[in-house]
Amino acid sequence: MTMQIKKMYVDGQWVYSQSQETFPVLNPATGETIALVTKGTREDAKLAIEAARRAFDHSGWAETHARVRADILFRVADLIEKRAAEFAEMDTRNNGKPLRESTYDVADAVNQFRYYAGLCTKPQGQTYDVPDDIQALVVREPIGVVGAITCWNYPLVMNAQKLAPALAAGNTVVIKPADLTPLTTIMLFECLEQAGLPAGVANLVTGPGSVVGDEISKNELVDKVAFTGGTETGITIMKNAADTVKKLSLELGGKSPNIVFADSDFETAVDYALFAIFANQGEVCSAGSRLILEESIYDRFLDRLVDRAQKIVIGNGMEEETEMGPLISEAHMNRVLSYIQLGLDEGANLLCGGKRLTTNGRDKGYFVEPTILEAADSSLRIVQEEIFGPVLVVQKFRTEEEAIQLANGTKYGLAGAVFTNDGAKGQRVVRKLKAGITWINTYHPTFNEAPWGGYKQSGIGRELGTYGYEAYTEVKQINVNLQVKPSGWFRN
Ligand code: NAD
Repeated sequence: MTMQIKKMYVDGQWVYSQSQETFPVLNPATGETIALVTKGTREDAKLAIEAARRAFDHSGWAETHARVRADILFRVADLIEKRAAEFAEMDTRNNGKPLRESTYDVADAVNQFRYYAGLCTKPQGQTYDVPDDIQALVVREPIGVVGAITCWNYPLVMNAQKLAPALAAGNTVVIKPADLTPLTTIMLFECLEQAGLPAGVANLVTGPGSVVGDEISKNELVDKVAFTGGTETGITIMKNAADTVKKLSLELGGKSPNIVFADSDFETAVDYALFAIFANQGEVCSAGSRLILEESIYDRFLDRLVDRAQKIVIGNGMEEETEMGPLISEAHMNRVLSYIQLGLDEGANLLCGGKRLTTNGRDKGYFVEPTILEAADSSLRIVQEEIFGPVLVVQKFRTEEEAIQLANGTKYGLAGAVFTNDGAKGQRVVRKLKAGITWINTYHPTFNEAPWGGYKQSGIGRELGTYGYEAYTEVKQINVNLQVKPSGWFRN
């Protein structure tokens, strides 16, 4: 049976790529091809950008009343919600994550559209008192054409998180999802079309980053690039965007510390240490991939952690009992396995895991065991570099100062957590973390209402919350003369 080729959405039309080429999309649990998707070219990206430019400059979208945009976005939310089970199953089949996680992601995406639909009609801007009979005010306006480039670990959420605020603020968008996981983004565009979004306002180009993403980051008709992905790619995009001084939001990699003090609630800390690194197979930018553990509980804590890590149920995300799915691709699995080998070569001590799993129907998927390594030295590459898989690196500390120093000792600064039952110490230490997303006595819960983003080389700017809306706006001051008469500055 021939597979129907999935199209992309440009200027209100579902179209094939100019080259007529396609690329396969796989299920990482089985290695099977589940879809063929049209492979966008540089020319396709240009056409989409031009459509978005026309829509912004001439269609009236930028001047629509917030209520009109809100109505459309509320409809989008309803349409996603109606197909929630279909969206969740597709993300699980395409990304591999367990169905309970995909189901959560879909609810998150629905909430993002509702949040920004609501937010755009709320009071904005400022007025302030200045001298000289001037009424001074500040308004926010859309930036223009937004080029969005996203990654594969939260296929639906990543795209909703950019589309919802960008559209709510009155921008037009060209989005390029990760080529490994474009399928729920295609479904999302079906919802945008059905909700009545005018032609050209949101465009979808599926294809390789080095071609489609490269064009988006360089094209002079694009006013802002919103990127989620690796730090190396972010640096390339930043350089490319510099030539035309584009606005930039970068959500990049992480190597986030999870500090556990001896006075923390033991079982809670063990439980969240597991969740911090093994949720979503560890393919989470904010994963707690470095456990920084106080010496006096070190051995007891690791015994319990290893015992629980070995009991995690690994399998196809569509099976109800599955707690951890496969990694996204064969290439990524091999990269993760080579990091584990590197750790061993560097002298790290393997406490559990470390291998690919091929038994019990897992022979064709990209499954890797939950892996825990002890590292005696911070200079190890497995301590410093993002692995982006189910690999936890553990380090020991003796004093509060040492814990903070270890926690801040990488180039990244995305997230971090502190576990302690000493309230003052928790706040004291969390305030010292160079990270944008932090927790005390928990790990991972974040909300669409709160700003998301990193310090240091984990990114620039913030998504989500009111900050994430402002990131899609320009700020304009308007000074209104309340005494309309000549200034008299020049005497003649
Ligand atoms: P990646 O950087 O390889 O790819 C991300 C996107 O960029 C993809 O769509 C890709 O096609 C595109 N791309 C690749 N090369 C490009 C180029 N030269 N120009 C323009 N676009 C290009 O990252 P990935 O492997 O898909 O994702 C994993 C990374 O994403 C990890 O480092 C992870 O930490 C990070 N991430 C960050 C956040 C965050 O919110 N900070 C969230 C999720 C993932």
